[in-house]
Amino acid sequence: MQHISVAVIPGDGIGPEVMEEGLKVLKSIEEIHGGLRFEWDTFDWSCRYYLKHGRMMPENGLDVLREYDVILLGAIGAPTVPDHISLWELLLPIRRTFQQYINLRPIKLLRGLESPLRHKSHEHLDFVVVRENTEGEYSDMGGRLHRGTPYEMAVQNNVFTRYGVERVVKYAFNLAEKRRKRVAAATKSNGINHTMPFWDEIVREIAARHPDVRTDIYHIDALAAYFVTRPESFDVVVASNLFGDILTDLGAALVGGLGLAPSGNINPERAYPSMFEPIHGSAPDIAGKGIANPIAQIWSISMMMEHLHQPELAGLILEAIEEVLAERKVLTPDLGGKASTAELGGELVRKLKALS
Ligand code: ATP
Ligand code: MG
Repeated sequence: MQHISVAVIPGDGIGPEVMEEGLKVLKSIEEIHGGLRFEWDTFDWSCRYYLKHGRMMPENGLDVLREYDVILLGAIGAPTVPDHISLWELLLPIRRTFQQYINLRPIKLLRGLESPLRHKSHEHLDFVVVRENTEGEYSDMGGRLHRGTPYEMAVQNNVFTRYGVERVVKYAFNLAEKRRKRVAAATKSNGINHTMPFWDEIVREIAARHPDVRTDIYHIDALAAYFVTRPESFDVVVASNLFGDILTDLGAALVGGLGLAPSGNINPERAYPSMFEPIHGSAPDIAGKGIANPIAQIWSISMMMEHLHQPELAGLILEAIEEVLAERKVLTPDLGGKASTAELGGELVRKLKALS
């Protein structure tokens, strides 16, 4: 029997609602596999917790999480708490302390769904964005000068380290070796003339060690356009923190929207726990109504299975999602249906058991 410890952080808004369905899927995986046991503990660290305790998580929060194999997150955020608090006091400390330097986001149109790109089907939309998750444009270096004068200005330093760029680019190439052997790297070295040429240089160095992988380096503006005009040409896309953020929202929109889009914050060395979460936030506009789409959360669990060396289970979860989408009988309102979060979650669990 293999025991896997999971730290569950449902979070705010629709986070706990979609997590409840995710946990049903975890339970059913135990029944299907027989040799796997998930031991999960739930932590109420969230904006609610912040409003009560003045902090997003207890002082020893990171030490507590460190002991788990993986972390499963719902969504964090609330209109009453500024975003920079929820981000800088919970999500970013987890990503940075646990060296989750890969933010992995599949851009895959599932069977049974239509893309807003009218002429593209699921055969054309199946790639992965590897986003750098610890440095780059999202640094806290910089500041404001000459406030209140006509010379007022703001400066933000981007930080690209050889260590940081090499490890994310290496990951992207290794992933491409296992897929269709193509890497597209996002750059803007015609406008950003220190960090981006450095990024390109490292991409070329690592590309040279993978002669069988086709490598393209595209300026981010052109790359965004290619997402729309020829998404079928992509396999693995590697991008810095900011560029990856923008590209993955665009990618999510091409394959069905926020209710479906999963992500993994991965420490490939497995020295620390990795964290799996839907891309969407707490969606306060629909929270409490029981209509949130639980698929992004459940797909995140599929990615977690992949990380836990259980590719068959990962595939099974995705197959169940695709079947339910293709049947078009039980869908939440964001997908044009009338079903509740729990009804769709229940249907996915039934399908999962039927397929196994
Ligand atoms: P946060 O401040 O936590 O980021 P947000 O207001 O930015 O929250 P998001 O969760 O990022 O909201 O999503 C934007 C909108 O997309 C939501 O307001 C909601 O209408 C829709 N949405 C997001 N996730 C889902 C989901 N799982 N199911 C259905 N609709 C969703
Ligand atoms: Mg948001």
